[in-house]
Amino acid sequence: MAYIEPAPIKDKGNPFESMMSRFNIAAQHLGLSEQVYNVLKTPSKQVIVSLPVTMDNGSIRVFEGYRIIHSNILGPSKGGVRFDLDVNIDEVKALAAWMTWKCAVVDIPFGGAKGGITCNPREMSAGEMERLTRAYTLAMNGVFGEDRDIPAPDMGTGPREMAWMMDQYSRAQGTTVNSVVTGKPVVLGGSLGREEATGRGVMISAMAAMEKLQINPFNATCAVQGFGNVGSWAARLLQERGTKVLAISDISGAYYNEEGVDISKAIEFRKENGGSLEGFPGAESISSEEILLLDVDVLVPAAVEDVITEDNAKDIKAKLIVEGANGPTSSKADAILNEKGIWSVPDILANAGGVTVSYFEWVQNRLGYKWTKDRVNRRSDRIMKTAFDRVYKTSQKYNTSLRIAAYIVAIDKVSKTYEYRGGY
Ligand code: GLU
Repeated sequence: MAYIEPAPIKDKGNPFESMMSRFNIAAQHLGLSEQVYNVLKTPSKQVIVSLPVTMDNGSIRVFEGYRIIHSNILGPSKGGVRFDLDVNIDEVKALAAWMTWKCAVVDIPFGGAKGGITCNPREMSAGEMERLTRAYTLAMNGVFGEDRDIPAPDMGTGPREMAWMMDQYSRAQGTTVNSVVTGKPVVLGGSLGREEATGRGVMISAMAAMEKLQINPFNATCAVQGFGNVGSWAARLLQERGTKVLAISDISGAYYNEEGVDISKAIEFRKENGGSLEGFPGAESISSEEILLLDVDVLVPAAVEDVITEDNAKDIKAKLIVEGANGPTSSKADAILNEKGIWSVPDILANAGGVTVSYFEWVQNRLGYKWTKDRVNRRSDRIMKTAFDRVYKTSQKYNTSLRIAAYIVAIDKVSKTYEYRGGY
């Protein structure tokens, strides 16, 4: 079914404006009052810090770090910290707002935030990364807090950086506070199942959408763009459920095998090859642009923002897009995909499995207790499925795409909570 939606109000390739154009459409559907609209569109706090760090060669480099709290209406703000050369304030603002909507869609009691440092982790030693992470955590004293703002991993960061953050924050407090950050190594109070949680949620969303579209996962094919934590887990779990993964890609290029790529082998290869798929023997090389245009049932963009744009959307052949990345589809591309009848399970729903298990990690740390992996998976699967069903129902009620429906669900929840709490 093709959906007709009002044209996006603004789209200049700026991620914050791209987020806002969807927000605006959902706000119109909900008839949001101007006052509440103004509150929800503005980040509640924006912190920019300069971080002088001694590099291994003795020189001092100054990095710029950000933490943007978009909203704490639903609870303490939650969101990852990104280390990447492309990090800039507009991107972090958009990512922070997406966290607000994401937490609201899966109905967990957190607001939204995001952090970032403009740097190239690929070119930094472990010592440099540690000093940078500790400097950032110290600079965020008064921002981070187990009941205030809780960071987590994102692009360029992982359990190692979360351990440093937890340690640095705990030193400043004079006591161990493991609930101040999630995505920690399991020995430090990380949750079982957190590592695969985002990819697992992508798989659950893909299965739920395939069921609605009457695509049998056992006969289905898929392509996964991006082979980091999210993409590789999504690919592995989809393959485990019978879906043939025809292509995968990372920064080194894209790899295609019409019989299906063996994902376990690709993960093994990547591990032995310094984290890259370059030279992967189990598939033929194709161009990075081509992977998005393959004739597959399911396309999982799990890399960066703005890869599906008005330039390539018309050539996409997948029936279903499941967004592992944040913001992979531009708002102008939405209209083209809707017209072609291609379904998108949007980022704020499809990749919410990560923050859901982050919430479980925080709950376990607060309880001083540990859940089994089975319990974590069962509960997160249930949350993801319930969220999908709620978004699907909303899309039917408002005759809108799943993306706009997800924004409607989220904005409705946050705005109602705001109205009950009241302003002054
Ligand atoms: N960075 C992840 C995201 O974009 C996880 C955030 C979290 O666990 O707080 O959803």
